[in-house]
Amino acid sequence: MAAKYDVEVAVERLDDVESYVIGRRIVLDSDLYPPRRNWRFCHELAHILLGHTDIQMINPEMEREADASAVELMLPIAEFRQAMKEMDIPALKERFPHASWEVIARRWINERQAVLTIYDNGRLTGRYAPEDMAFPARPGAAEIDLVRECSEKRQHLRRGADETEGLDLQAYFVDDGRGVERVLLLTEPSIEDLS
Ligand SMILES: [Zn+2]
Repeated sequence: MAAKYDVEVAVERLDDVESYVIGRRIVLDSDLYPPRRNWRFCHELAHILLGHTDIQMINPEMEREADASAVELMLPIAEFRQAMKEMDIPALKERFPHASWEVIARRWINERQAVLTIYDNGRLTGRYAPEDMAFPARPGAAEIDLVRECSEKRQHLRRGADETEGLDLQAYFVDDGRGVERVLLLTEPSIEDLS
């Protein structure tokens, strides 16, 4: 991708930032684990493509734009939608190995009007939904239950609307060897509930 967009990439030991960009040169911290490094690369590339050339001038709005463009660079929407039709999250992760589970799951919930809840080492660290979607701020009993079972069994689990309170739940156990055991929970209202 660097060659395609004619940018230079360097991987170096950085102290206080994960990455930065100067002109058309992107510098990435060598300590980042690969999916995170790929994400930072796409984020910095997005700044270049969006014409955010003066780093001192970058504001939160520009950061949001860069994040949105980075997702598109990493998981082009047309390709992702096509793949989603026949693939579940683990299959999507195999299809797009350069993206992290989280980036894939966040793209997925935007397409499905679902909620993503993330637990790291048993602690809730994030809960996300598409912009215009109303959803409970805290996970409910059925969701918490499935997350607990998922971390105990250390395997992906799925639970249908008949076993929960009308929710379709998927929990994914991810241990990428960084000392963090992560569970990604995808919560979708069942079709009946939407009507
Ligand atoms: Zn940025």
